[in-house]
Amino acid sequence: MKRFLGGKFGSNFAERRKLYHGKFLAKIAYAAPAWFLHDPTRTASEPRMIYGLTLKALGMLQKLQNEMLKALTRARTQTNGPVMEHEFHVLPILLQLHRIAMDHRVLHQGSEHYNELQRNRQYRGTIDKAVRVKSLRSHPYNRLHELVVLHLEQIHMLKQQDLSAQDFQDEWAKLKTRKKWIKAYHYDLIFYKAEKAFTMYLRSRAHRHQHFHPAHNTKFIDHVLECYADLKSAQCTMTIQMRTGNIALKTNYFHRRTLDTNDMTCPLCEKALHPAEHLLCHCSALELPRQHLRAAVGHTSWAKLMTEECEIASAFAIRYFEIEQFDSEKEKLRYQFLRTRFPCD
Ligand SMILES: [Zn+2]
Repeated sequence: MKRFLGGKFGSNFAERRKLYHGKFLAKIAYAAPAWFLHDPTRTASEPRMIYGLTLKALGMLQKLQNEMLKALTRARTQTNGPVMEHEFHVLPILLQLHRIAMDHRVLHQGSEHYNELQRNRQYRGTIDKAVRVKSLRSHPYNRLHELVVLHLEQIHMLKQQDLSAQDFQDEWAKLKTRKKWIKAYHYDLIFYKAEKAFTMYLRSRAHRHQHFHPAHNTKFIDHVLECYADLKSAQCTMTIQMRTGNIALKTNYFHRRTLDTNDMTCPLCEKALHPAEHLLCHCSALELPRQHLRAAVGHTSWAKLMTEECEIASAFAIRYFEIEQFDSEKEKLRYQFLRTRFPCD
């Protein structure tokens, strides 16, 4: 992974997302249909699958995704997984793998190969019939088979609302249509689940009285990726740090911990606290360059700068926040104020 991401490779979010889908996810998901993943769309009243991948293994998969996202988005360590996924516009890994695996299973259900596997499976297990039946029933093969049958039923039901029985049979017989329907069904299913999970994450944040940064003030369906369009690599990095609040400023707990201090005062004006919002919109020491920013976009609203004007806001931040990580960038022409909304380099 480091080899891919080293140097100048993947200059913006869009290219790095391609890398995620084309290389990383494809690698992890390659064998996913053969794994016994728990059904992440299961409701609390449905029985849990036994013998599936352990919670520890599932946790490791999510951890792997978080590590990938950290490298790809260049968010700081300790940035929460759900918020990185949302900023990078990808879904939680378990849901993605479940979708890929179920697409495969539902598509191949009833095929010759599938039936042969089913037949061979009957002879597995212990000799004692009662034990065998019991163990077979709770075995992931059977749990997943039940799920496949359920999904097939639901797809049939949904599609038969719009089509006559004959039209449905004709369409279902076409591999391409069948694939499309199955894919769309699973996509809707996991999208709904992912939306719920993100809402739960935000709720737990509110419950713990954690501050809501711009990345937390978005809805699941918002196209956050647009904030990162046309941004240079350093600007993407600055934008995700500002939007998630995990940035090398003194109001960020993780940064204070590295500095080993409790002081949160802005070192520029020495009058207020030191979050990104203060530097961008209020700090008296930056009033002069802020006038250029205001002249370019017509306002200094923190919410709007963090959603509609990330390009110029991140340029301002790179130039004036005095964060060491961006020292090598800040003298570039693109980040010099006076400048307009659309730099021409
Ligand atoms: Zn200040």
